Amino acid sequence: MRTYEKSTKLDNVCYDIRGPVMDEANRMQAAGIDVLKLNIGNPAPFGFHAPDEVIKDMSYNLRDTEGYSDSKGLFSARKAIMQYCQLKHIPNVGIDDIYTGNGVSELITMSMQGLLNNGDEILVPSPDYPLWTASVTLAGGTAVHYICDESSEWYPDLEDMEKKITDKTKAIVIINPNNPTGAVYPKEILEKIADMARRHELIIFSDEIYDRLLMDGVEHTSIASLCPDVFCITLNGLSKSHRIAGFRVGWMTLSGDKSRVKGYIEGLNMLSSMRLCSNVPSQYIIKYALGDYTKTDDLLLPGGRIYEQREYIYNALNSIDGLSAVKPKAAFYIFPKIDAKRFNITNDEQFVLDFLRQKKILLVHGGGFHWEQPDHFRIVYLPKLEDLEYSMKEMKDFLADYRQE
Ligand code: PLP
Repeated sequence: MRTYEKSTKLDNVCYDIRGPVMDEANRMQAAGIDVLKLNIGNPAPFGFHAPDEVIKDMSYNLRDTEGYSDSKGLFSARKAIMQYCQLKHIPNVGIDDIYTGNGVSELITMSMQGLLNNGDEILVPSPDYPLWTASVTLAGGTAVHYICDESSEWYPDLEDMEKKITDKTKAIVIINPNNPTGAVYPKEILEKIADMARRHELIIFSDEIYDRLLMDGVEHTSIASLCPDVFCITLNGLSKSHRIAGFRVGWMTLSGDKSRVKGYIEGLNMLSSMRLCSNVPSQYIIKYALGDYTKTDDLLLPGGRIYEQREYIYNALNSIDGLSAVKPKAAFYIFPKIDAKRFNITNDEQFVLDFLRQKKILLVHGGGFHWEQPDHFRIVYLPKLEDLEYSMKEMKDFLADYRQE
């Protein structure tokens, strides 16, 4: 009998929130066991809801958004995005340079599909948001990982990045602010990356979905604003800043020098029209959602839930023997280091699985983010403070006698 296997193109795609650990968590839940989930960056289930106006705007306008829109998106949405680009000093972005998408996810995939031929290389951070590596791979390319340096606030290691450029390299991907580290890159680092792209004639992809989730007064710079002579694709969306991950609303903007990417843009236009358009009711709210972007969300200020939970998790992790963590400046993730020698950890997925089975708490292992050493894991600190406190108590207890065979 004929059997069907998954495409071999998926062989090198690694798991983050899916895979054996998730399967085990699902099995435990099906068996009636409560699992505390610190594994997914989805704000709504943890009591972070969308602003009322966003919900009202969408529901009032459902009648007007029944049909397909222009394949790149509604004019009103793209105009609001264009104004947002102006505010962030991203140069040379016209209405036609803006594509809305069903989340940033769809646009990551689309932008890689449109660019890559077999064997092309793309520089992707390690650790990364794993969809980037997966999308490069599925498009036939090779993701070459450059290191982000934990000892320098998780900023990209520029020497490592440059060393990995070959004549097959087409682009550099940066994730800023970063998932899983919560790092926000300073202007000087971005300028050096822009310069590298300029010298090697590379495209820059900048995933900025967390640029409105900043803490400690840190400012975000869009790399595209620093290099009007370099072709950049900047990606952003409302899943996180407006807590509407389920509505699937994102966009990408093309900026800088477009004179040598005409063929690529033609490909993007083809791909954009093949999916007809992105979710139209969600596009409708972009203009309202981006209207209040200058105000820092109270959640991110002292006394706000995200800020206070970040403070807690950072201090708690650093007080446990064998763990250490850099303080995240944005988003709602922390990527602690575990002393692999001390616990004899050679397999980080096994570590997370053992913790899940013993303590019923779900984390993601560092390998899920293309981090090679078995010495990191990611915590999403969105669950309420009591749950975070409980998880840290259990972690301390677990590590007291944990040793991998
Ligand atoms: N980019 C990064 C860095 C993310 O962390 C995520 C989601 O976690 C996405 C993109 C996908 O976002 P969206 O919901 O817009 O598809």
